[in-house]
Amino acid sequence: SFPVEAVPQAPEDPLFGLMRAYKADESPNKVDLGIGAYRDDNAKPWVLPVVKKADEILRNDPDLNHEYLPIAGLASFTSKAGELLLGTGSAAAAEKRVSSVQTISGTGAVHLGALFLAKFYKVNGANRTVYLSSPTWANHNQIFTNVGLPIATYPYFDKETKGLAFEGMKKALADAPERSIILLHACAHNPTGVDPTAEQWREIAEVIKAKKHFPFFDCAYQGFASGDLDRDAGAIRYFIEQGFELVIAQSFAKNFGLYGERAGCFHFVAAPSADAASITTRVASQLAILQRSEISNPPIYGAKIASTVLNDKALFAEWQENLRTMSGRIITMRTALRAKLEELRTPGQWNHITEQIGMFSFTGLSEAQVAKLRSEFHVYMTKNGRISMAGLNTRNVEYFAKAVDSVVR
Ligand code: PMP
Repeated sequence: SFPVEAVPQAPEDPLFGLMRAYKADESPNKVDLGIGAYRDDNAKPWVLPVVKKADEILRNDPDLNHEYLPIAGLASFTSKAGELLLGTGSAAAAEKRVSSVQTISGTGAVHLGALFLAKFYKVNGANRTVYLSSPTWANHNQIFTNVGLPIATYPYFDKETKGLAFEGMKKALADAPERSIILLHACAHNPTGVDPTAEQWREIAEVIKAKKHFPFFDCAYQGFASGDLDRDAGAIRYFIEQGFELVIAQSFAKNFGLYGERAGCFHFVAAPSADAASITTRVASQLAILQRSEISNPPIYGAKIASTVLNDKALFAEWQENLRTMSGRIITMRTALRAKLEELRTPGQWNHITEQIGMFSFTGLSEAQVAKLRSEFHVYMTKNGRISMAGLNTRNVEYFAKAVDSVVR
């Protein structure tokens, strides 16, 4: 019989618990700033117009079926996905130094990468510790822990400036044992909204290179952060140009609004060398074996939608327009929130609201203030003071600013 006493009750996932509480709240004023999914100005999910078009093209295709994809996924999708990250003129792609596998969105990509490292990142004396930013997307902790890789943290968020703890970060990376694994958010850092500048990325790359660390990029918001796909891939491209060998977990949840379709990729980029092609083939063969035992074949429909858009010039241009709509609305909300708080003379500095980027903002509100916002104003956000900017709109931004003003005083 199963030793059921060995199965304790686990706590509910805090984010999904928050979502439940929000749903149960009957106040007409309630505001959901918890979950990281885009909402339009009416607080409704937004199906990208370009996704609707791709969906229609697929549905009208008489040859559409529900067969299995190959183990590595839809090749027309994974190759374009890689190109999106690396850029069209990428030497790494031309030299066939990239192994790409379609995954269960970004989470699955981080997981497949973690599994691959757990199995193969074993060099004599090499350190297998994965360094995560403090704070980071909470799931990173459990994904790497679950595959048996030890985790540690590097400073990232400076509570005083509500910006990057740059010196602390560099020092921690320099102090970490050689050949550690360093997880980096490619853009729109979750949960802080704080990204290094281009110059800071250069210095970070220098430290990582000097210590022979291995970069693991998590890219969940390309194009969604600045509205510019190339700009949001800037850090990754810079590292690749510097000759790093690295891996990338790529999600299409936010930038295509394909959350539940689970479209994503994992990419291994080998460093330029005479062996690069052979390394790439070997890596791909091992990723396929891992993929087979985990999920056999990745899901087809989201990948087909993304592939339809990525492989068509006109649809691609329309997608870029849709990306600018989403990122633009979020940036407008940042400006509006900051302006309201400054107009109300809410105690404290609020410049970080517009300086941070992407889906999230780390407001600096304390746990007690967050609790008060919920009990008195029906505002739902995570305990760490993070807000999803996408939950704000022209109708509730003033209400939220006044609520913040009230709990801060
Ligand atoms: N990494 C980070 C940093 C994220 O914020 C997210 C989305 N919350 C993901 C990965 C993966 O999300 P998904 O599995 O939905 O693509």
